[in-house]
Amino acid sequence: MKADAPSDKQYTVAALVREGRALLSQAAVANADAEALWLLEAALGCSRLVLLMEGQREVTAQQWARAVRLLSRRAAREPLQYILGSQEFCGREFTVNSDVLIPRPETQGLVEEVVQACLSISRPVIADIGTGSGCIAVCVALALPDALVYATDLSPGAVALAQQNAQRHGVHHRMKFLAGDLCDPLRLAGLHGHLTAIVSNPPYIGESDFAALQPEVRCFEPRIALAGGVDGVDFHRRLVSDAAELLMPGGLLAMEVGAGQAGTLKQWAMNCPSYDQVLTKSDEAGIERVLCLRRAA
Ligand code: GLN
Repeated sequence: MKADAPSDKQYTVAALVREGRALLSQAAVANADAEALWLLEAALGCSRLVLLMEGQREVTAQQWARAVRLLSRRAAREPLQYILGSQEFCGREFTVNSDVLIPRPETQGLVEEVVQACLSISRPVIADIGTGSGCIAVCVALALPDALVYATDLSPGAVALAQQNAQRHGVHHRMKFLAGDLCDPLRLAGLHGHLTAIVSNPPYIGESDFAALQPEVRCFEPRIALAGGVDGVDFHRRLVSDAAELLMPGGLLAMEVGAGQAGTLKQWAMNCPSYDQVLTKSDEAGIERVLCLRRAA
């Protein structure tokens, strides 16, 4: 696909759609036809209907160049969400950039778990550790209108974006944003024994699983949001150890886990005296996805 529209003869929308789709399918993008349309909608500022029904429309050199820029990024396997700057989660749009993990649909189960546990509690105080885009923290705040929600992340870029997303959804006045490592900022804020629930979707890709990841994930999503140590569960273990003192008696620690990680973590957590209940919840694919621990009373 040429970077500039040919100056002698005007190019059409139909030609752009055809060439864009070809470029993405040559790059082995899984959903090439649909993704080309999404990118062209953004590049030309028109709807999919126009792209498909008004193929004879002429494309300006500027529009052509903009379209090639976006399509080339996707052909280099940059995730569509980073190019378009957005991802839907729990029915809401979240701004995303390369500082944060792209929210995944399976994480919605984690939000449901925490919301369910806090529904009957008046003014719950909840912390989302490793908040990234803020998707979990913001959705929890939206679902629990009297909750105070702390959102922490090691990455200052992530904290800034989470704040922006909280503002976008109008819940920033009930949220606090802290930069720091896992439970450290919550400890520093003096929250010992104060939290109704702690939620986290920590990095959980094991070292040997990295090579098998899609290039979109492996080459573009932030490594610190993905890598969970040799067997992928370093952060879960640290959270189980460190979260207990922050939780009030009966408080909930809910963490997302990777496929196949729940079993051993559950066995290990059941031996921690700080917790008196350990259970797992499965996602829609039947994979044990959420590990829930109750702080002993
Ligand atoms: N909490 C964010 C999410 O679930 C980020 C998670 C992470 O960076 N590991 O999308």
